Amino acid sequence: MLKLATTWLGCCSGCHISLLDLHEELLTLLKKVELVHCPVLMDVKEIPNDIDIALIEGGIRNKENEEIAKEMRKKAKIVIAFGTCAVFGGVPGLGNLYSKDEILEKVYKSTLSTKNDEGIIPNEEVPPLTSRVKPLSEVIDVDYFIPGCPPDPELTAKVLSALLEGKKPELPKKNLCEE
Ligand code: SF4
Repeated sequence: MLKLATTWLGCCSGCHISLLDLHEELLTLLKKVELVHCPVLMDVKEIPNDIDIALIEGGIRNKENEEIAKEMRKKAKIVIAFGTCAVFGGVPGLGNLYSKDEILEKVYKSTLSTKNDEGIIPNEEVPPLTSRVKPLSEVIDVDYFIPGCPPDPELTAKVLSALLEGKKPELPKKNLCEE
């Protein structure tokens, strides 16, 4: 049975939640794979070896995201960028309109709801931000891209089913501007 892993990086978790919209089909899918890592369904911290298919949600916003993406790539035969954030940077990519220092200053010091009299910006418990948000393919090789915010669950199921049958999945050729 093929091993399926999922993970999330700089994202909102909505792509994972979209999987639940498969309803009963999700159960059928889960019968065909061994789920070995999935932050919404399992409490497994380590990324296991010998993954067949990895679905990665989210882009690269910090050093931890970068490390996880690289480890997934090392351990998975097929990597899928799952959702618009992973494919293009998505909503977190709006952070690229500002410098890293401007973001930290705003978030930790100057929002109306912030109380931080000592002006401390955490740098030990929080992974350092990367200079900008990057789509997954700027950091690791990606085999397939499933865009969408969140992705259409039926498309995700089709892609996974094709891969489980050893076939090349068909992805839509039209872009967002076409009818
Ligand atoms: Fe959330 Fe949309 Fe990004 Fe998925 S693509 S993580 S739903 S913002």
